[in-house]
Amino acid sequence: MKMTALYVPTLKEAPGDAEVVSHKLLVRAGFIRKLTSGIYVYLPMAWRALNKISAVVREEMTRAGAQEILMPMVQPGDLWKETGRWEFYGKELLRFKDRHDRDYCLGPTHEEVVTDLVRGEVKSYRQLPLNLFQIQTKFRDEIRPRFGLMRGREFIMKDAYSFDTNEEGADKSYWAMHGAYTRIFSRLGLKFRAVEADTGSIGGNFSHEFMVLADTGEDTIAFCDACEWAANLEKAQVKPAAAAAGDKDAAPAEVVATPGAHTVEEVAAFLKVSPTAIVKTLLFDADGEIVAALVRGDRELNEIKLKNHLDATALSLALPEVVATVTGAPVGFAGPVGLKVARIVIDQELQGATGCIVGANQADAHLLHVDLARDLDSATVAYADLRMITAEDPCPACGGAVRLAKGIEVGHVFKLGLKYSQAMDAKFLDEQGKERHMIMGCYGIGVSRILAACIEQNHDADGIVFPPPVSPFEVAVLSLAGNDETVAAKAQELYTMLCNNRIDALLDDRAERPGVKFKDADLIGTPLQIVVGGKALARGVVEVKNRRTGEKGELPVDNFLHAFS
Ligand code: ATP
Ligand code: MG
Ligand code: MG
Ligand code: MG
Repeated sequence: MKMTALYVPTLKEAPGDAEVVSHKLLVRAGFIRKLTSGIYVYLPMAWRALNKISAVVREEMTRAGAQEILMPMVQPGDLWKETGRWEFYGKELLRFKDRHDRDYCLGPTHEEVVTDLVRGEVKSYRQLPLNLFQIQTKFRDEIRPRFGLMRGREFIMKDAYSFDTNEEGADKSYWAMHGAYTRIFSRLGLKFRAVEADTGSIGGNFSHEFMVLADTGEDTIAFCDACEWAANLEKAQVKPAAAAAGDKDAAPAEVVATPGAHTVEEVAAFLKVSPTAIVKTLLFDADGEIVAALVRGDRELNEIKLKNHLDATALSLALPEVVATVTGAPVGFAGPVGLKVARIVIDQELQGATGCIVGANQADAHLLHVDLARDLDSATVAYADLRMITAEDPCPACGGAVRLAKGIEVGHVFKLGLKYSQAMDAKFLDEQGKERHMIMGCYGIGVSRILAACIEQNHDADGIVFPPPVSPFEVAVLSLAGNDETVAAKAQELYTMLCNNRIDALLDDRAERPGVKFKDADLIGTPLQIVVGGKALARGVVEVKNRRTGEKGELPVDNFLHAFS
């Protein structure tokens, strides 16, 4: 591609609303333009990079046995009513009506659609297992779209869904996806960690998030230096007591905690959980006091038996996700009116405990502990510093030291179990001719978020420093011809040689000063620059620069292609 023919509108200044480096650079380097809040146009450079990312994703998904399809983005509300998510999903689901007054939504995810597809077609164990994936635009009406491509409202996702006949097969499918994700993010040159995660509003049995390590990440992860153990300390989405019941989108407030006299050891012993257990839910009374909290343990997500009682309707009003997550016996709290719930995920280890819980909030990593043995209204709150705990305690897996870091969630694998197949009655006949529900998994990758995350990890003061597999172009040829036509012709010739050898090359053939070309080349981050100038050409060489290291060298023009073989 020639720069004179390429629409790459670079800017000197980043837009005022850009807070993080990837957003600034994507706009400055002419990759994206904002249409409206959280919705972007991908210009040619971004689209090339996204296609490179998608190609790697596609290859590894196919290698792991998944088949590509494309499902509609517009989904009928009726399917979402079958699973209950029409009510539970909250305001991220953009709902609308057609001319016949029928309910529709824009797909934020595709469990309902894919389950509907498969239940209509797959009847026998012989047709399973099945894993279907797509790369497609998703829409989520995020409460705070920000950071450019990192948290858009419209974004590109790869989502895959597996269907199996038994637990063993479902686990195999899950780990095949886990392996594929590890290969994808490694190939894309990202520094990442797979961390144990909760299953959020999708619900299910087990789940890992793939986190790109970056200070601008919105998640906090704990990981062990000595082994592979890592977990997400997801931000406790605490809501101010004043927020209206059911208003899931109320802005998160700071955790209100009273420093207590408990030591870390006392808290951990009292809770009968690992000190690395993580809070998922905090309940506040009308005065903003924490009255209860629920915890997520190291591995198992399960239900806590609380003595108290609150009817499920009140709980679901406070937060729809709760009902989606909690199964079996009603989990309840006898709380005052105005009780607020963030999210519920429950730890098996706590079953039978009188009910008290630890937690961390992302901002300052406090541990909270609430004694529910007493009346909830007079619950006490103890406090300790998570950092103390992590410094002193054993990684739960190996006893090594645990550290905290910020991460960007680029991928997520869930084992869904029977949640959707039961709700939507997706059954097959087993070898004995008996009807059984399929066991499902779902697996997402934020394709457009990867581009942002990649830049968060790969940039310097001059611009983007792309890893070769993500870069829109592999090589940039800078023609410093001025009025010298032999130089221009040579640059063109070398560029053509590269293209003919299927190397993605960009020729800067603009009538610009060398300084402008150098600056733009650094800004757009092509891994290798080839500078074609009169003086060097007279000696039969061109200059090459490694964008990442800044190292410069020379290549003989005669044997030019040799360096690329
Ligand atoms: P987050 O915690 O960041 O809101 P999520 O857990 O809601 O993400 P999933 O439902 O797991 O997201 O979707 C799969 C993947 O889609 C995520 O791992 C992430 O990479 C990507 N993704 C989710 N929301 C967005 C968004 N608003 N903008 C860009 N990518 C997103
Ligand atoms: Mg989300
Ligand atoms: Mg998440
Ligand atoms: Mg997720």
